[in-house]
This record gives sequence, structure tokens and C-alpha cells, in this order.
Amino acid sequence: MHDTKNTYKTTCSYCGVGCGIVVKKGRHDNLTLEGDKDHPVNRGMLCSKGMNLHHAMHDQRDRLLYPEMRKSRHHPMERVSWDTAMQRAAAVFSSLIKTYGPNSVGFYVSGQCLTEEYYVANKLVKGFLGTNNIDTNSRLCMSSAVAGYTNMLGEDAVPVSYADVELADCFLIAGANPAWCHPILFRRIEAHKQANPDVKLIIVDPRKTQTCANADLHLQLLPGTDIYLYNAIARVLIENGDVDYDFINQHTEGFEEYRASVFQYTVAEAARHCDVKESDIRLAASYIAASKGFLTLWAMGLNQSVIGVKKNFSLISLNLITGHIGKPGSGPFSLTGQPNAMGGREVGGLATMLAAHRTIANPQHRKEVAEFWGVDSISDKPGYTATQMIEALERGDLKAVWIICTNPLVSLPDLKRAEAALKNARFVVVQDISRLSDTVAYADLILPAAGHFEKEGTMTNSERRISHLRKIVDPPGEARPDSEILCTFAKAMGFHGFDFASPAEIFAEHARLTQGTNIDISGLSYERLQTEGTLQWPVPDETHGGTARLFTDHRFYTPSKKAKFFTLDAPQNLSDPPTATHPLILTSGRIRDQWHTMTKTGKVNRLRQHIDKPFLEIHPFDAAARNIREGDPVVIKNEHGEARVCAKITEEIKPGVVFMPMHWGKRMTNDLARANNVTSSRVDPISKEPDFKFSAVEVYAYRRP
Ligand code: SF4
Repeated sequence: MHDTKNTYKTTCSYCGVGCGIVVKKGRHDNLTLEGDKDHPVNRGMLCSKGMNLHHAMHDQRDRLLYPEMRKSRHHPMERVSWDTAMQRAAAVFSSLIKTYGPNSVGFYVSGQCLTEEYYVANKLVKGFLGTNNIDTNSRLCMSSAVAGYTNMLGEDAVPVSYADVELADCFLIAGANPAWCHPILFRRIEAHKQANPDVKLIIVDPRKTQTCANADLHLQLLPGTDIYLYNAIARVLIENGDVDYDFINQHTEGFEEYRASVFQYTVAEAARHCDVKESDIRLAASYIAASKGFLTLWAMGLNQSVIGVKKNFSLISLNLITGHIGKPGSGPFSLTGQPNAMGGREVGGLATMLAAHRTIANPQHRKEVAEFWGVDSISDKPGYTATQMIEALERGDLKAVWIICTNPLVSLPDLKRAEAALKNARFVVVQDISRLSDTVAYADLILPAAGHFEKEGTMTNSERRISHLRKIVDPPGEARPDSEILCTFAKAMGFHGFDFASPAEIFAEHARLTQGTNIDISGLSYERLQTEGTLQWPVPDETHGGTARLFTDHRFYTPSKKAKFFTLDAPQNLSDPPTATHPLILTSGRIRDQWHTMTKTGKVNRLRQHIDKPFLEIHPFDAAARNIREGDPVVIKNEHGEARVCAKITEEIKPGVVFMPMHWGKRMTNDLARANNVTSSRVDPISKEPDFKFSAVEVYAYRRP
């Protein structure tokens, strides 16, 4: 089925599963929606968030409707015209660049931006402003997986498809709660397991989440001990001869060093470190050994860690030693949290990347992109990553920041520090759809953006599937699509190359720039996406039907064409350790019916009914030791700050570990409800991804003074 009058096929704007939806437009632009039965991802199913997407889009309260500006920090915001707003932005950015150099300005964008918007922002910043200071909130969720894939497989290339779910007979889901956070993908796993009772489901998580309900094995490890666990599973597989030496010898390098590193401690020692049973580690290995199709799936529990990249190395190694990659039902599958985290990486949306997975560090890549954009050169200096931007703002090196489609004052770690840094900026632009973002309060210039159903573009989901999104309704007030805003600004700065007549032209330019690369989509156009539906990259020519699975020939994208093992002989966690004064480990995460910082899902009554306020999960032992009863207000405290929510006492979390959802901010409750008040700015040294899953805290019952 294609679009018909007032019926539009599009894609859900929440998680990276990328479900197809059919939106019907009635009188007065009244919208209804249902799951797209023809869509290969969801086959008509939608989760609670997707089902209610139109309610969030309908609700125009709190929408930003026209540009607003303050004359100086001490003046109130005033409504201004788009011309005035763009002139002011261009004047401030030109002046700062002239006085302090191009690295004095930066952009912070989002995995919710459409690919065309991401592309234009990167072209503007890296090609024309002369700095690589553009990073994305995908830094907060995906960058450890990017580094894992890139170092081991040669490129940030997810090798598998959702179609592999029905071909797998063993799943290891680590640091993820897909039953709540990637629900439609998990429903496919559940349905497959129900139809095939021999299918094994192994869950690795410090919490007993909904995902564990039908698991064959739950390895409830201590936070930060993942590498011990995967190394121990590898050791058992190697000792039992359950590895694929033909694959290892022909298609990988570094195995002997890796093997030596995993043999440095016994399975019993690993079990003690992880606080799981040795017999359960051996059981997990036996499930993997018996499988014909083995999928590893992971999300933030691995990535959001100070050792996130090494965690990725250790998990992906399980696929490599068993040869479970490039085969039906097999492979390492990183789950993206945002709808277009993958598309952003395609256009080089990270501060160290260039278009089509090229890198800033590679002179040939810089030359290719500079020539394509018709500029003299691209800076060889990597840009500031998300938390480096905060540090640069604190130091005063970064003077202006332009924030698009993200709410860093809820989602960044160590929020007091982030707030102070933004206050220290000379000029903050916030380009967004909603006043419900806490970050809007810090803006000197507010630019109203069009919402998901109000603009056209493309997104790429977790399995490399590109979909085209239709414009269904007009944006309210004077809101404009993000790509149009960025092109207008670029032209106000006097730059060439931003005269795109439509998003289709931006996509065509982006697609041309991928030609000859491993993510070649030069065979793809809006026309094809509209007539043929979604396709998975690469799509290198106009007759190519897309690529469901990568590395089927076992030739990887490394220079040697072999996948690479890494030694993992220092698996200790490098997070701030628990101490006598901060003895508990706080891990943060998501709940079923809210998404990110709630600026959309928080408006929908039906979604608020599931869980309507923030909470702290705490084990009965830890609660009793602190005289905390169910529902008591509690203070969560460490050197970074404090949060106050109500206690939820549960045996589903390990003793010594507490959990808090990350969604709530000042606009949704109050600033003490933010989990990130007590997370640290520590990052993984390779990926620069923050350590959200491990903060040492103390918890007290709150007694009113
Ligand atoms: Fe949307 Fe993700 Fe739910 Fe699918 S699973 S409907 S993409 S939130």
C-alpha cells in the first residue's frame, strides 16, 4: 500500500526499532494512526508509545511558535522575525569566529534529527564554519558501540537484520530491557521463542526487568563486571572446543592474544567478581555452543560506561570465536535508542567523523569531502564531544553553542556542571519544537522547529533500514523544518552550497557522497523509497534491492579484511568506586511509556498513567538498613549533587545497587527529580561516552527539616 489521499505511510519517531505507521488525516487535520501491516519491521504492531504518537503531535500546548531573542543576558525574551533572528545568529557567529577563531563555536545535535538535517548541519559546521565542533546526543548512547564495531569489524556497520531474529536459536541480551525500550523487536523475539520452545534466551542485567520474564537464564551481575562475564563464557567455549577455528584462522586476527587474556582468571574467579553462579556461566556457554544461530543484542548497559568500548569488544568476541557473524540468525546487534542515531552516523554526525563513515583523522577523507563540498579544506582538529563541549564552555574556550532537537539539561551527566557551563556561554541558540525542554530557559535565541509529521526527510533504524517520512500537516505558527533553518543561517553567513530546493535534493547530495564507500546508497532516491518502501544500506545502484546482512563472505572492512580481536586483560571497572560514604551503585535507565526527556511522551495522559512519577528502586536489605519504607521520599546524594524521589522497594534489583529512571526534568516535576544530578562526567577514554550506569551514591530517608 502506498500513500493515498489523506493516508500517509511514515515511521515512528521514538526508538531505533523504526516501526512503520499509517497516519490518517481527517477534518481539521485531526490525525489517527495504526501500525503499518506491510512494514517489514513491525508487521502492523505498535507499542504503547508508537500507538500514542499522534496524541503527542496533536498537543500544540507548549509548542515554540515564533523566534524569540534577548538583546543581552539581562533582557527578557522578545518575539522577533525570522530575518532578525537569522541576522543576529549570523552576526554573533561571524564576530566570534573572527575574534576567537572557528573553534569558539559549536553545534550539539540529536539522533532525532532527520538525516537531511544532520547532513546540512555537518556540512555547515565542518565544511564552512571551519571547525569540527559538532557532536550529537548519540554520543550519550551509541558511541561505545560505534567504536566496538569500527575497531573489530573495520567500520561502524551493524551486520544483522531483524529478519535474523526468526533465524536465531540463541539470544544473549546484555544491558538492555527491550521489553520496555525496544518493544516491537522484543515482541518478535518472544513470538519466535513461543513458536520454538528450544530457542534459548539469556539476559545479562543487574536488574530483573520485564525482559527476564521468559528468559531461560538471567545472569544478574554486578554493574561494571561485564567483561569478566563474557571472558569467562569465552573461556568455557574455548576449553570445551566449542569455537570455530576455521573461521578464527581464516577470518580473524589477534585470537591468541585475546585467548591468553581471557585465560588470566578462572571461571570461578569471574563468577565471584560478577556475583553470579559459576554453573550459570557454564550454562550460558552451553546454550551458545548448541546454537546454530546466535544473536547478541545490547544497549546502554554496555555502552554507557567508562569501559564501554571494552565491554563491546568482549561481547562481540563471543560472535567471533563461534563464527556467528555473516550467517543467518547470527551476529552482534547493537540496539539504538533514538530513531535516527544510525542516519546521523552515516553523515558523520560525531565530532571525529566525516560523511559516509569517513574520519577527520584521515587526510584523504578530509580531501575527498572538502573537494565534494567545494571548500579549500576541512580542519584536522577533532571537534569537542558532548562532555568536552561542557568543559570547553566552562573554560570559556567555547563561546557559542547551537543546540538542536535535544534537551541536554536533563540528558547530560553531572547536570549542575552542565548548567553552569551553559550559563557561562556568551550565546546559546536552542532550536526545538517545545518549551517543555529545560534547555530552552538557557537560550539567548529560540528558533521554533517543525515536528515529526510537519516535515519531510529520511531516517535509518537499528538494522540499517532507511525510510522516507512524509510531511503530513503544516507546522504551527512560524515553525520551520530544521534543514530549512540551517540553510537560511548558512546563506546569512554568506556560504554557498545551501540552495537546496527540497529535502530530496539534500538526500541526493548525501547519497552521492557515499558513492564507493561501504555504506554506498548512491542507488537510492526519494522516488525509490516512496515506491519500493524502506531499504537497508548499502544500496550501491538503482537496481540494487538493499542489503539485509553484511559480511556474508567473511571479508571485513579492516585493511586485512579480517575481524580483529582485542586483548581484555584489564577488565576492572574504572568508574568512581563505591566508598564508605557512598556505598551504593546507582544505575539509570528508562521506563516503558516514557521516552528520553518526556517533551513528547510526557504530554500524553495515557502514557503518564503507566508510571506517573520518578522513583528509586532499592533492595529490601538496603532499604531496611536505612530505615526506608515503600513510598518514602529519599535523597540520593554524592559529590555531584542530589536527587529526591520516592523509594520503590524491590527484590528485582541486586543488593548494593539502586536504579532511577532518567526521564524527568525540571519542567516535568522539579530539578531534584533528575537522575543526572548525581552522575559523573567520567567518560570512556575511546568513545567519550559517559558513565551513566555506575555512580557511587548514598541514599537517605528524607525527613523534612
Ligand atoms: Fe515506536 Fe519503537 Fe514502539 Fe516501534 S517499538 S512503535 S519504533 S517506540
